[in-house]
Amino acid sequence: MPLEKVIIVGAGPSGLLLTLLLSRAGVNVELIEQTKTLDKNPRASHYTAESCYEFDRAGILDEVREAGFSPNGVSWRRLDDPAKPRLVKLSNPEPAPGEEDSEKHRHRMVCLPLHKLGVILEREVSTQPTATINYGWKVTEIGEDEEKGNAWVEVEKEDDSKEKREADYVVGCDGANSIVRRKLFGDWVFPGFTWDRQIVATNVYYPRLETGVDDYDDSQFFVDQEHWHMVARIQTDGLHRVTYGEIGGLTYDQLKERQPGKFQAFLPGKPTPDQYELVSFSPYKVHQRCVDKMRVGRFLLAADAAHLCNPFGGMGLTGGIADIGSLYDALLGIHQDKTDDSILDKYDEIRRKIWHDVINPVSSENMQRLYRYANADEATEKDPFFKMVKRMQAPEQEANKGEPNPGLPSLRYDMTQHFKK
Ligand SMILES: Cc1cc2nc3c(=O)[nH]c(=O)nc-3n(C[C@H](O)[C@H](O)[C@H](O)COP(=O)(O)OP(=O)(O)OC[C@H]3O[C@@H](n4cnc5c(N)ncnc54)[C@H](O)[C@@H]3O)c2cc1C
Repeated sequence: MPLEKVIIVGAGPSGLLLTLLLSRAGVNVELIEQTKTLDKNPRASHYTAESCYEFDRAGILDEVREAGFSPNGVSWRRLDDPAKPRLVKLSNPEPAPGEEDSEKHRHRMVCLPLHKLGVILEREVSTQPTATINYGWKVTEIGEDEEKGNAWVEVEKEDDSKEKREADYVVGCDGANSIVRRKLFGDWVFPGFTWDRQIVATNVYYPRLETGVDDYDDSQFFVDQEHWHMVARIQTDGLHRVTYGEIGGLTYDQLKERQPGKFQAFLPGKPTPDQYELVSFSPYKVHQRCVDKMRVGRFLLAADAAHLCNPFGGMGLTGGIADIGSLYDALLGIHQDKTDDSILDKYDEIRRKIWHDVINPVSSENMQRLYRYANADEATEKDPFFKMVKRMQAPEQEANKGEPNPGLPSLRYDMTQHFKK
């Protein structure tokens, strides 16, 4: 039977994207968001092939490409020897003439700050007749009505009035502090751990970070026990994201006070605050966590509401967007009677497996490789990822003959293979 309605809680990137995909396919969707405007904090900015694939299905890839840009590559570097700064580099070449429309190039990495992606998604959602967004509504309770065979959420509006909204399914896309998750499992039940180091994400204009100046690439990670960090160009006007590691347990004020010293220690030219423009400063704790169930009855969880990882390597939102692609296929399959709702158990099983087998170990390594080794020479010699990249880039060397080059497995999973034959 066609679905009457799906409720999605949270207008972050995952909730907006699922709303757009489902409503474009004719499913009625009500998106509920507690705030009145989209989040503008410095967060995700890099979208890999998996994300571009879903943007393409949602009809927004061209607009995202137009608004953003494709980074020229990413390198891992050392701080202690400016003469030989790069340990390894992965390039992201421009398409050769005639190859511009190939899937490989259409879906190659694109960079756009998250709030700009949100604007594109929101604008597209607002043109869909089967989608409604209710801003300023906060979900406070959830439940199922067995008699009616549906699920409900209770929302608190700005005037303090309450209202119950009903749907066939409710999807929690409500982020790390998800109310849907807390109501399903309890306030403090989110299996995993919080790293004892924290990180600080900043957006900054500083001319010496421009690509090519001081030999910087569009994106780079610096391997250093004390000053591990990442620098990435995130806008074509010269705005850069600088994210650096900090010792745990410091207050916001202490972190803010230390920021100029940190920049002076690791940015080129040892700049003082009058030499750069600090646009935003956001310290945050980092976690590796995943729920034990992404489906409970008529409730589903996706993206940060279901799992978290540190942001080095951009696997947080990429994994979330891959959830959304799987969930879209599953819900649309139910709506079009191509499958029954046991597909949602498959969604739960597959998405958690991908988090445990790929996202969690790979993102953990991505962060630890920046500070784990005594120095960059030891990192080059011992780190399996650096060794793999060197092997990939020198397959002709005798020592590398016959060695497999295991690329990163895709986070995407095609749910339609489980549809009725
Ligand atoms: C500094 C930083 C850098 C990052 N960089 C990258 C990167 O480069 N690449 C990458 O892939 N990922 C990155 N990430 C991770 C990425 O930003 C997150 O994975 C992503 O924002 C999660 O999207 P989401 O839609 O699941 O949740 P969110 O973006 O958190 O959205 C959740 C929404 O739900 C709403 N909500 C919450 N509770 C309720 C309620 N009770 N009722 C109604 N609405 C509610 C919130 O207001 C919010 O709008 C980064 C994260 C950080 C912090």
